[in-house]
Amino acid sequence: MRTRHIIGISGGKDSAALAIYLTRKREDWRYFRDLAAEAGCSDAAREIETAKQAPEIESFFTDTGKELPEVYEYLEILEKYLDKPIVRLSPFSLVEDDNTAPFDHFLWAEHGGLLPSRHQRWCTYKMKIKPMGLFVGDAPTVNYVGIRADESSRSKLSSLTNVTAVYPFMSDGLVRQDIVSLLEETTGLPKYYSWRSRSGCYFCFFQRKSEWLGLREHHPDLFEKAMRYENETFDPNTGRMYTWMDRMSLAELEEEASSMQAGAEMIASDRQSTWQADLISDHLSDDDRADHACAVCSI
Ligand code: SF4
Repeated sequence: MRTRHIIGISGGKDSAALAIYLTRKREDWRYFRDLAAEAGCSDAAREIETAKQAPEIESFFTDTGKELPEVYEYLEILEKYLDKPIVRLSPFSLVEDDNTAPFDHFLWAEHGGLLPSRHQRWCTYKMKIKPMGLFVGDAPTVNYVGIRADESSRSKLSSLTNVTAVYPFMSDGLVRQDIVSLLEETTGLPKYYSWRSRSGCYFCFFQRKSEWLGLREHHPDLFEKAMRYENETFDPNTGRMYTWMDRMSLAELEEEASSMQAGAEMIASDRQSTWQADLISDHLSDDDRADHACAVCSI
């Protein structure tokens, strides 16, 4: 069976930059042969050597249906730049007997209203990894992954047994500034980077408080929807309610933000700043924290 070559586009900067980087390498088939050989994919290396051309790399995006609008917008920009389609995979096919959206189906029918969290991260498997597994099937596959050379602590993607991950940025020593520069000179960065550090679902529990407040400012409707999920999990008998953040609901965050704003406005009048600008100023430089999001959703 012939080897497939794939790249998962998350809507984040690293996978987008990798897709562009690999497109620029297309004339150099030896580059791809060597990557495959280094990763132990001798069959793939042999196929490339025989064909004497770079492999056709299939791009895909696993759509949870709950992504930020900026992500969908950026995918179109990237597709245009790459001049080839990015296949949209959907977990919808996994719940085709149900009329509800996949996330809602999984939340209520399979998890009893338990919102996903850092400790109960069922969403990644159900909405990202499983659709990808169905897409890949049984074929031996080389998966190009955009983990950079300056983030060796970021967990690597867990592979299916027939999928081997290769890490071109790590092999070539590319760091964050290289990725940012590459995007700046091609597609630009996805717009959400002005207020959020990662791609992924609008309600992703990996967000910091400042990012939730960014969501409230940029997409108040989505912030409302995220709040609604919390409220719907409220059990009047037990008083239990699941929240996206640890130990705090979005309603409580809003309260905290109002009091912070009152205090910060006084400070801002002194130093020409705003409390929110202070909170979000480090987004672009803060995507390697120890509590980073799962690689599959945010590379
Ligand atoms: S982006 Fe966040 S909420 Fe969405 S699937 Fe990934 S981990 Fe889960």
